[in-house]
Amino acid sequence: MTDTATIPLEFTTTPSQQAKADAEREAILADPGFGKYFTDHMATISWSVDEGWHDARVVPYGPLSLDPASAVLHYAQEIFEGLKVYRHADDSIWAFRPEQNALRMQRSAARLALPLLPEGHFLAAVQRLVEVDKAWVPGAPETSLYVRPFMIGSEAFLGVRGAHEVDFHVIASPAGAYFSGGVKPVSIWLSQEYTRAGRGGMGAAKTGGNYAASLLPQAEAYEQGCQQVLFLDAEERRYVEELGGMNIFFAYGDGRIVTPALSGTILEGITRSSIIALAEERGHTVEERRFSIDEWREGVESGAITEVFACGTAAVVTPIAQVKAQDFTIGSAGAPAGALTMSLREELTGIQYGRREDHHDWMVRLA
Ligand SMILES: *Cc1c(COP(=O)(O)O)cnc(C)c1O
Repeated sequence: MTDTATIPLEFTTTPSQQAKADAEREAILADPGFGKYFTDHMATISWSVDEGWHDARVVPYGPLSLDPASAVLHYAQEIFEGLKVYRHADDSIWAFRPEQNALRMQRSAARLALPLLPEGHFLAAVQRLVEVDKAWVPGAPETSLYVRPFMIGSEAFLGVRGAHEVDFHVIASPAGAYFSGGVKPVSIWLSQEYTRAGRGGMGAAKTGGNYAASLLPQAEAYEQGCQQVLFLDAEERRYVEELGGMNIFFAYGDGRIVTPALSGTILEGITRSSIIALAEERGHTVEERRFSIDEWREGVESGAITEVFACGTAAVVTPIAQVKAQDFTIGSAGAPAGALTMSLREELTGIQYGRREDHHDWMVRLA
């Protein structure tokens, strides 16, 4: 067997015959929303036990042909990534720390018994797709092209083991400003009945199964008038873990910042690690440790905790006004966004949109 990891992949490109006309695409880009419209092409790399990674291609966006017995449809052998691509003022196109997505996808793959996609293959697939579809990267403030790489077990076999045939795909979707009317603090719902991930489970992997587990508590959050759901640890139901798809931070008036430690049940956000780096550069002490819901309540009641925010690629940094639980509420719905929250948000988005100097070399030019 050839070690395909060391051979640069040659991509073939099949241009779409149904590419949207300029006017139609521009109309979509004027109000793209999130995850509703997709670009004209997609990138795919196939894998099999015998051939390794092969057949890298950019093809017209369209339905996949999957055998009904494919592993992903029965045993949820799936992982994904999410990253944004930004158009800068000079029309150059950039991604934010995409190699971190490639490495995280490898960690997710290991947990789900999927093959490791070499970092270079991941980056090449993203780059080739963005090059072909670069007209789809919007240019208005706070907009981006959201890129969604994912990997599925496609082998037709109902036996329970890792699939011997796998496909990696990259699709892309223009995204409007997350907070169109200005950044607005959110209310979140504390799920005390359901948990997201247990010790030894898949919590640290970016996999659809974790999202499936969060949909019912997320629906409960909506019923309670909250935008997001917050999960506690599965063992003691005391320690704050994360939201359905965002990590969480607590800022103290004395300059300390606390975020739940990566315990194996939390997804390691790239926004999370970037916020930690920016905060430490400003002289904040960032503590990664266990943080209980009682510590949150007491900290807000005493005034020691001054700001709470969530972070992730989709919304970048989101102020949290309050957390509601069955029997108590911490904070209040009308609480304004904190100054530190907003300035970290502004610094990070400034780097991403090329308005600020990128002295970490986080940005990677794609086109
Ligand atoms: C993707 C994700 C995050 C945020 O990660 P980023 O790399 O910052 O986008 C946080 N929690 C969960 C469960 C996620 O799936």
